[in-house]
Amino acid sequence: MEERYGHLTIIESTDKRKNSYVVYKCKCDCGNIVYRTKSSLTSSVKTSKNGGPYCDECAKKSQQQLVTKHGMWAKNRRLYGICKGAKARCENPKNTSYKDYGARGIKFKFNSIQHMYKWSLENGYTDNLSIDRIDNNGDYEPSNCRWVDIYTQANNKRDILQFHGIKGTKNIAKYLGISIRRLTNMLYRDKITLDEIYEKSKTDPLFYATNTERRSFAQRKRKDEWKINKEEAIEIVNNIKNGSSINREANRMKVDFKTIKTAIKRLEDGIYDL
Ligand SMILES: [Zn+2]
Repeated sequence: MEERYGHLTIIESTDKRKNSYVVYKCKCDCGNIVYRTKSSLTSSVKTSKNGGPYCDECAKKSQQQLVTKHGMWAKNRRLYGICKGAKARCENPKNTSYKDYGARGIKFKFNSIQHMYKWSLENGYTDNLSIDRIDNNGDYEPSNCRWVDIYTQANNKRDILQFHGIKGTKNIAKYLGISIRRLTNMLYRDKITLDEIYEKSKTDPLFYATNTERRSFAQRKRKDEWKINKEEAIEIVNNIKNGSSINREANRMKVDFKTIKTAIKRLEDGIYDL
């Protein structure tokens, strides 16, 4: 039975002893012959970071490769950080952005952080670019990712953002009463235009709410939609058949348009009977 440790295979025992341990004649995968005790072989397997043990020659080569590989990671800490962050947002519930990614079902579909790193270097990555998921609800995978300069564009002085006569991201954010980060996120990540953002600031009662306030409102709203029971839903549908409108029914029931539509859909889908 062949006894193998890393890249070394024991051929035979020798008469030699080291600290009273038997010294074995071993053959490296490259063909070199070396002499090792079993305890040194087993401890090498445990401590080696690069698949050792090897013969001295191969050990040197492999160590060099390891340094080069590590160098590649160290060479672009920014890119490494972005790749690591993408995986964490999708897979680590403790990550502060997990709620917008992993919790929403967005997956990290590169084989590994290293795979994304390598893919990025082969697909146009440079230090001034940001990772962009083409489909905002899509996953982190090669077909849905690209490196784009949206964020640098936002801060590029030659391409100053203008709105209502106000110049610059910072001043526009101030004008709207929100943070620069929220503004750039809405513009470039969520792809909402300045006009739409302005409109939201005037009409969306939650525009200036905190994230917590927004979440609790969404929960309340989900509960509200169930406030219309099956009998009421039947009545609403009959009224509409007899000439009423969704808007009129919403006014009558003192709920919003969407709640009425949801109730009708629930009735049609038979959800009330479940
Ligand atoms: Zn070797």
